[in-house]
Amino acid sequence: MIRFLVLFCLSLAVTAETKFFVLGSGTPNPNPDRSGSAYLVLVNNTPYLFDFGPGVVRKMSALSKSWGGAYSELEVENLEYAFLTHFHSDHSLGLADLIITPWIMGRERPLKIFGPASTADMAENILKAYQTDIDYRINGTQPQNSTGYKVVFTKLNEGLVYKDQNIQVLAFLNSHGDVKESYGFVIETEDKKILISGDTGPSENLIKYGKNLDILVHEVYSQAGFNQKTSDWQKYHKAHHTSPSELAAIAKQIKPKKLVLCHILFWGATEEEILQEMTTHYSGKIVLAKDLLLVE
Ligand SMILES: [Zn+2]
Ligand SMILES: [Zn+2]
Repeated sequence: MIRFLVLFCLSLAVTAETKFFVLGSGTPNPNPDRSGSAYLVLVNNTPYLFDFGPGVVRKMSALSKSWGGAYSELEVENLEYAFLTHFHSDHSLGLADLIITPWIMGRERPLKIFGPASTADMAENILKAYQTDIDYRINGTQPQNSTGYKVVFTKLNEGLVYKDQNIQVLAFLNSHGDVKESYGFVIETEDKKILISGDTGPSENLIKYGKNLDILVHEVYSQAGFNQKTSDWQKYHKAHHTSPSELAAIAKQIKPKKLVLCHILFWGATEEEILQEMTTHYSGKIVLAKDLLLVE
């Protein structure tokens, strides 16, 4: 009987299986195969979104049962929690879509957004911009609820920003040029610890927070492409982003089980060339992100 109970408890302990998806692996460059920055963590049937670049809602729906994907939990109307690393447009242009489309599809509860202070203005102005559409849907003949387009905003500060029975989310300040409120996130669930770098140059704070990671998701640029840039652009990118050798040094120090290269500034380089630039400096496990990639 005791053995049976132990087995039962063990099976309960491993039921939380966290899935980490790259929804958008892109940058400001409008590559049609790489949507703007967006990641999704699915745990115990609840989706949590990190960044919402252009294309985010359609990429999420590509994973949902209704639109040919494998996950009934990933219908867009189930999305209630969204975290933003920083205001840059390649990470935030999807906000209007995120506020409105899941509501049209049936979301009744407000969208909970966690982000830098300016995110509140973004959301407020989007609601103003779409007031006519929102009013038409609520007050006309469309059978629409009058709550699911609303936004509840929480300003990020460094430290624990959100916790429920599934997930704990920590924000930390990274090093993205002169962007003051630029964050990375550490996401902990029962079975996974994941760090999302956000956009950043080499960050001591990231190294401090990046202990015992299952997955490190980090941005990177092509060194060959960087070498072709004019000196003013080199100065900009050096302060805002991370080179392959810099990322290798970070990964060697914090030793994640898996390193996911994302938000890659290719600048004409191929995927193979980026991987080669990384593997000359780093021998750990590397995955090059694509849109809709499931990282296990
Ligand atoms: Zn970016
Ligand atoms: Zn940025």
